[in-house]
Amino acid sequence: SWGSLSDKPVYDWSSEEEEPDGRARPVQVLLVKDDHTFELDEAALSRILLSAEVRDREVVAISVAGAFRKGKSFLMDFMLRYMYNNASEGWLGVADEPLTGFSWRGGSERETTGIQIWSEVFLVDKPDGTKVAVLLMDTQGTFDSQSTLRDSATVFALSTMISSMQVYNISQNVQEDDLQHLQLFTEYGRLAMEETFLKPFQSMIFLVRDWSFPYEFPYGQEGGMKFLEKRLKISENQHEELQNVRKHIHSCFTNISCFLMPHPGLKVATNPNFDGRIKEIDGEFINNLKVLVPWLLSPQNIDVKEINGSKITCRGLLEYFKAYIKIYQG
Ligand code: GDP
Ligand code: MG
Repeated sequence: SWGSLSDKPVYDWSSEEEEPDGRARPVQVLLVKDDHTFELDEAALSRILLSAEVRDREVVAISVAGAFRKGKSFLMDFMLRYMYNNASEGWLGVADEPLTGFSWRGGSERETTGIQIWSEVFLVDKPDGTKVAVLLMDTQGTFDSQSTLRDSATVFALSTMISSMQVYNISQNVQEDDLQHLQLFTEYGRLAMEETFLKPFQSMIFLVRDWSFPYEFPYGQEGGMKFLEKRLKISENQHEELQNVRKHIHSCFTNISCFLMPHPGLKVATNPNFDGRIKEIDGEFINNLKVLVPWLLSPQNIDVKEINGSKITCRGLLEYFKAYIKIYQG
């Protein structure tokens, strides 16, 4: 039953890109509903991508994707801090400043499969003199049943298609089912795109959280690359299915890399009152965060989104987003 009007909000915040106080916030632009249909909030997406300062700028679209409760928002809040502090030396801030951003809703966040975009698009000067627009996306899915796996695959496919860098956030290790999921996501994506001689997607970064074998492969990007090379290696005596997953992943992305992150410490993982202040996070995690975030986001490292070899503006990205979603809506 609908209940009385007084206990229902008559407006829907999800279609407004700003809080009443005007602060930037995450906006749910794509939502998978309980009946497995997709809903694109075209108005909200347009407000973000067609704002006068950004619409004609080439866009860098950064997506962090993965299952719930694996520290994506926590990481993205640090990415926001880096962006808001203009990539300056002291971007990480002071020891007892609580984290804000994607996780502003804390525990009340509903576990919805979909894509959230940060309402503020950042303008960044690249060393080559160009000014680009940087868009941050949070892509989440659930993998607990066949039907939700399909929804998640579609959402992942979409976010991979519209991003220039997909950060695949996974816990503890790169398991065979993480690779299988990735194959499924990218297969969904590739089916929807035009045939081309170019690899369909740009950068894929495996971000392994709570890595616990640093003596085998050290934390960071170099250790990550060595680890990933071993994990994605194709060999004759492998089962054909394992070989195919690996070939598929190699054929989809222009760049593939990996970063191994240490565990952030028990306060982060288990204390319900933890508010993100740095002084309660393990030093090893912070040290690697100082490497990871600039490696992902520094002005010299970010790449403009390309589709079929052409650079895309915010306005163009909106058109692709709408066109791709139509394919999945059938
Ligand atoms: P999301 O659902 O993937 O966005 O996950 P959140 O960022 O909301 O984090 C879920 C929980 O994991 C929170 O209690 C965080 O404090 C905690 N957390 C954040 N980063 C990490 C991490 O690297 N490792 C572990 N074990 N927990 C983390
Ligand atoms: Mg989250």
